[in-house]
Amino acid sequence: MARILLLLTIGVVLWAVLRGFFRSQARDGRPAEAQVEDMVACSLCGVNMPRSESKAEGGKVTCKDPATCRHAP
Ligand SMILES: [Zn+2]
Repeated sequence: MARILLLLTIGVVLWAVLRGFFRSQARDGRPAEAQVEDMVACSLCGVNMPRSESKAEGGKVTCKDPATCRHAP
């Protein structure tokens, strides 16, 4: 009887540890997915960049900083 209780205790502890491990992995995965940002291509120089570094002008996406745009005048 004592052996069965010991095995049950070990099983419950293992289940709790594995559950905590998989939950922490799921939590770690979410921020990485949230950080993924759309990539857009500059309509002037064709450079790909995150949307936050681009500028939409008249329906065209261009580099936010004209100095970094290779085709800037
Ligand atoms: Zn550009």
